[in-house]
Amino acid sequence: MLRNKSVSVKAEKPNVLLIYTGGTIGMVNDPKTGSLKAFDFRHLSSQIPELERLNVSLDTVSFPEPVDSSEMNPRLWAAVAQQVYDNYAQYDGFVILHGSDTMAYTASALSFMLQGLQKPVILTGSQLPIGTIRTDGKENIITAIEIAADRDENGQAKIQEVAIYFEYSLYRGNRTTKVSASHFEAFKSPNYPELAIAGIQIAYQLRESYTQAEEPVFFTDFDNRIALLKVYPGFSAEIYAGIFNPELVKGIVIESFGAGNVPTDLKFQQLVSDYLAAGGVILNITQCSTGMVDQGKYQTSSFFSKIGVTGGRDLTTEAAITKMMYLIGKYPDRDTVIRKLGENICGEMSL
Ligand code: ASP
Repeated sequence: MLRNKSVSVKAEKPNVLLIYTGGTIGMVNDPKTGSLKAFDFRHLSSQIPELERLNVSLDTVSFPEPVDSSEMNPRLWAAVAQQVYDNYAQYDGFVILHGSDTMAYTASALSFMLQGLQKPVILTGSQLPIGTIRTDGKENIITAIEIAADRDENGQAKIQEVAIYFEYSLYRGNRTTKVSASHFEAFKSPNYPELAIAGIQIAYQLRESYTQAEEPVFFTDFDNRIALLKVYPGFSAEIYAGIFNPELVKGIVIESFGAGNVPTDLKFQQLVSDYLAAGGVILNITQCSTGMVDQGKYQTSSFFSKIGVTGGRDLTTEAAITKMMYLIGKYPDRDTVIRKLGENICGEMSL
């Protein structure tokens, strides 16, 4: 579904594949409607002549129909992962241009789809379209490409995982969340330090690697029969009763208060225990942006630990949802799904 277009090929330079999926970075104003719409990727490369001056060989591929990232889904995540996987041997690194709105979901999904990477897969985008004078897109793309091409003195990639580069910071993809709809500094990694800061030099702060395999382990068969429930004071268990049906919903992510607490509502407790007894899986994450779930610390979460809800520690919502889709898609056995929900698979969770 993606087509190839070579910008320049110089074998002695590191080579990077740029994958354009859509988003503001490649958008222009539609004079008819006044709203932003995606434009042909060839215009993007002509917008950044600086790319030719990088010491990198760059090839580009594009979604035939670039999308606003609100349209992303497991099928499109799989298309991006496939593109990386199919080209893995030919390139030193990959840059994915993507809308910022759901970039953290795609980065999290790709981290589960492409485990054991020994090469960088860097997502980036922008808050302002590339054609506007104050765009943040140029710096984001250029530095993302530099990072994707960067090697240490032994020729090993400096970054060997899925990451997001935005506004001078490189973050672990599955730790990142979009925090601002208007600031250039649109992302944060609240529970994990930056992988690199781009100043005059790109200062890498090397972290433990999750690379266990020689080759990437590729799996894209995610199961999206899951639900997300954010509790709030006054929420009515009856209104949400429909999702506690294991025939329809294989797993539920609950966003709870603080260290994993929910109201001690007997109807809610009944729904939760019936759902688990009937084969469902529940992952409890916190609505707080920092800190982690500690089930049983308060009486308002002890029910969860007694009944078999899995504590998601410091998972972001994006990582929790994609981890659930990945595990339910991969493991038919419920006990394995529950065990793996509690494990750190690819750097997404602190233990
Ligand atoms: N709506 C756009 C998108 O996520 C916003 C952006 O690119 O930053 O595709």
